[in-house]
Amino acid sequence: MIIFMVINNNYRRILIKISGEFFLSNNTERFNSIRLNKLCNDLINVLNNGINISLVIGGGNIIRGREFTNNNLINRETADSIGMLSTVINGIIVRDILAKHDVDAEIVSSLDLPFDVHKLNPFILNKLVKQNKLIIFVGGLGLPYFSTDTISVVGASLSHCNAILKATKTDGVYDKDPILHPDAKHLNNITYDYAIQNNLQIMDDTAFSLAKKLNLPIYVFSLFEDDCFIRALNQDIRISIVN
Ligand code: UDP
Repeated sequence: MIIFMVINNNYRRILIKISGEFFLSNNTERFNSIRLNKLCNDLINVLNNGINISLVIGGGNIIRGREFTNNNLINRETADSIGMLSTVINGIIVRDILAKHDVDAEIVSSLDLPFDVHKLNPFILNKLVKQNKLIIFVGGLGLPYFSTDTISVVGASLSHCNAILKATKTDGVYDKDPILHPDAKHLNNITYDYAIQNNLQIMDDTAFSLAKKLNLPIYVFSLFEDDCFIRALNQDIRISIVN
């Protein structure tokens, strides 16, 4: 296995955000074991480079509130509650796999849960950060109408991260949808305002606005690259930076 080392290590802790959709394969298997292992291996290589991790995993492989409510069978608030629970399921699964690799992760939850988790609270987070723990945020903000992008920015700030790594299906930000438009231009560096004004779908507007206020740069890159997190930090894979 090729191990990439961070060349210019200015990072003590980063927040990594991935969509739960990454665990889906062929839209049938909700927890693809190859992808779960790939994620954990890439996370471990970040730790091996002396960088601590805060992690947010979405719920897109199970339920997203806004999609689940489309048929009007249940209301948005209920759908979002189920969405939040989906992020709990993903967080607990990833904690278990990391434990098998001898990495102890601590779950911090906005929801009261009958599992071994901490309640989301700045004081608890300070303690976990001092202990250099891998922190997994679950349950989002605990409120409907938000996405896990928002807790990613809030969690990054509360756990003293100096960058957000948003790993996606594409290798960064384009001026138009690269799947629909073969002539779409890759953008290496954009401002938060550009992302908001052009309604770029990488993160929701609330998350971009908050990241701007908190001065947190967002690195966007493909989760499908080998050792994607370290290589994104080194900028030796294609990335876009929003700042
Ligand atoms: N969610 C919510 N409040 C939050 C975070 C998440 O209601 O603070 C719900 C919402 O329904 C969302 C779902 O949890 O669709 C899963 O999160 P997300 O859509 O961000 O998952 P991803 O697309 O990143 O996999």
